[in-house]
Amino acid sequence: SSTVRLIGSTQVIVSVFSVVKELVENALDANATSIDIKLDNYGLDKVEIKDNGDGIDSADVPLATKRFFTSKIALFTDLLQLSSYGFRGEALGSLCSVADVTITTRTAKDFVSLVYTFDNQGEIAGTHPSHLGKGTSVSASKLFGKLPVRRQYYNNIKKKKDELKKIEDLVMAFGIIQPGVRLTLRNDKDLIWQKNALSDVETAFSYILGRNLMSQMVTEEFTVDPKIHVKLLIPQAESDVQLTSRSTSDRLFIFVNKRPVTLKSIEKEIKEGYVVNHKCGNVRCPVGFVSLTVPAFFVDFNVDPNKTMVGINDDYKYHIQDKLYNTLQKLYYDK
Ligand code: ADP
Ligand code: MG
Repeated sequence: SSTVRLIGSTQVIVSVFSVVKELVENALDANATSIDIKLDNYGLDKVEIKDNGDGIDSADVPLATKRFFTSKIALFTDLLQLSSYGFRGEALGSLCSVADVTITTRTAKDFVSLVYTFDNQGEIAGTHPSHLGKGTSVSASKLFGKLPVRRQYYNNIKKKKDELKKIEDLVMAFGIIQPGVRLTLRNDKDLIWQKNALSDVETAFSYILGRNLMSQMVTEEFTVDPKIHVKLLIPQAESDVQLTSRSTSDRLFIFVNKRPVTLKSIEKEIKEGYVVNHKCGNVRCPVGFVSLTVPAFFVDFNVDPNKTMVGINDDYKYHIQDKLYNTLQKLYYDK
C-alpha cells in the first residue's frame, strides 16, 4: 500500500541531507565530472542535482524509480567487490514517495533529452523533450509535503542552516575524495561552495584548507593486513594549525572506500593524537584526512539510514586503530 511505501521511504530519505547524498552518489556512479546542486529554501521547496554523466537508458527509466531496482549489481560476487556508491536501488523510488520528482536525462546515443515526471508511486506520469546535454538532472520538490511532522522539523531557520552546513561538509568531502569532479552548491541565490576539477586528493584538500594550512600537513601511509590500506594527511609535529574561518567545526575528513563516513573510533584515536601533540594548535578543531581502503566484505554501510556510519569487522578495526596509534605516536611523541 502507499502508506507502507511512505513509511519505508522515510527510512531511506530521512532528510534534505540524505536527498543530496543519494543524488550526488548516483551522479558519481554515472561517471559525472561535473555536478551542480541547487537548493530552494534549503532544499525544502526543491533539490535539483544536475550531472554530465552517462545518463539513464530510456528502457531503464521506468525501472529506475522502482523499489530495489539497481543497474549496479550484475552478479552476487559484485557485492563483495562493490565499487559503486549505490547498490540497493532504493533512493529514487523512496524519493518519489516523499517528493514530486522529475528526471531529465540523455545518454550518448539519444538525440534529445527527455523530461520524465513521476507520481508518488514512482510511475511515469508524463514525458516531454528538453534541451539538456548528456547527463541527468533529478529534481525533487515539496520534500516531505505529505509528512507535516517531518517538515515541521525544519520550521526554524537554525535547523535549516545546520542542515545546509552538514550538506556543505558532505559536498566538500566528496570534493576531496573525488578530486577530478567539478562541484557547485547553491541555496536560493547564494553560491555556498564550489570547486573545479583538480588533479589529486592533496590539491583538493589544499583548496579547502588553504595553502598555508596545507604546508603544515604531512602524508603517512600504511597497510594493515595486505588488504587494508590507510592514507593520512595530518598536521606535522609542532605545527601551529589554527583554523581561521568556520573554526567551530572539525576539518577531519574520514573515508572508507571513498565514502565520507563518521567513524568514532578512528576519530577518537586522531583527536587523542592531537592532544599528545600538545603544540599542535587547536585541539578541539582537528584538521586531517583519513582514507581507508578495505575489501567490501569487511564493511557494512547499512548501519544507519544516512549511511555515514560504517561498521568494520572488529578484528580489522582494532588492527587499524593500533597501527594508527603507533603512527601518531611516532609522529608526535618520539620527536
Ligand atoms: P542505486 O544507486 O542503489 O542503484 P537508486 O535508486 O539510487 O539506486 O538509482 C536507481 C538506478 O537509477 C541506478 O541504478 C541507475 O541505473 C539509475 N540512475 C539514478 N541516478 C542516475 C544518474 N544521475 N545518472 C545515471 N543513472 C542514474
Ligand atoms: Mg543510488
